[in-house]
Amino acid sequence: MNLEKIAARLGFREQSGVFVVNYKGYEVTLTSYKVPGALVGLPMLMFVFNQPLDKSQRKVIAKQSGLKGFVPESVGLIDNAFLSQANFKDQEKLNRYLDQMTEVFQSLGLKTLDYCPYCGQYETDGTRNIKGSIIHVHETCVKNFIDQVETHLETKGQSKEFMVKSLLYAVIGGFIGLIPSIIVLFATGFYSAWLFMIIPFAAFYGFKKGGAQKGSYVMIFIAVISLILAPGFMFYIYYADAMFYEVPFSEYLAVEEIRGYFVRDMIMSVLFTIISLSVAWKSIYKQTHGQIKKDLQALKK
Ligand SMILES: [Zn+2]
Repeated sequence: MNLEKIAARLGFREQSGVFVVNYKGYEVTLTSYKVPGALVGLPMLMFVFNQPLDKSQRKVIAKQSGLKGFVPESVGLIDNAFLSQANFKDQEKLNRYLDQMTEVFQSLGLKTLDYCPYCGQYETDGTRNIKGSIIHVHETCVKNFIDQVETHLETKGQSKEFMVKSLLYAVIGGFIGLIPSIIVLFATGFYSAWLFMIIPFAAFYGFKKGGAQKGSYVMIFIAVISLILAPGFMFYIYYADAMFYEVPFSEYLAVEEIRGYFVRDMIMSVLFTIISLSVAWKSIYKQTHGQIKKDLQALKK
């Protein structure tokens, strides 16, 4: 989709290379955004606020606006923004939506970010295009912020403290992520490969609970744990079946029909794990130092 065309249709004006509209005191940016799992960018509306959005505020916004697909975002490394789909037929439809949204924002006491997000002061002397939105900043604030985060990443970020605990928790998390698959298997006698999708998220949740620094390598751990657990579980189902019939596993697999199912199911479990990893990748990566470094790069100009 051509962003310029949409901007023209919906009445956005271009300002410093960004499409914006000011609606009832709120600045709305039209931007192309890749949601997790998507191959191409989608036209999205972006709202950036003067304070971080907590869980309850996000809930209220999502509920009262009937938002389909609510994507939280952090601008300047503060969780103060969100994106929503911009599929409006015309400006009238957009305005009706914005009426609804601005009412919700007002009720939550949210305002457009109109000061330097790093020091909270006005009279800014620069701007940054942060994730598609123009943000007013002080040049020195940005510089200090970059120095600060970089120092943090170089010192604390390199720390291996809690790493063993985090890895252990990640494995435990992965096993917990397997529980739905086990329950469904026992309840129905069938496995659901879709349920393997829970594993990477559960493993990452466990890792976070462990308290170690989240370097980019976290992604590798999660992938390895998931790729061992899901096919491992599948293998165990067949192994347990052989045990049940008191047949050696190799003999059990010598039966052509069973071998066929076994191979199919092993491939399926690997395939679904790969799919689930590709879905989970972006939302997990977003929480690692990899994303922070990328965000910093964008600030450097
Ligand atoms: Zn500042």
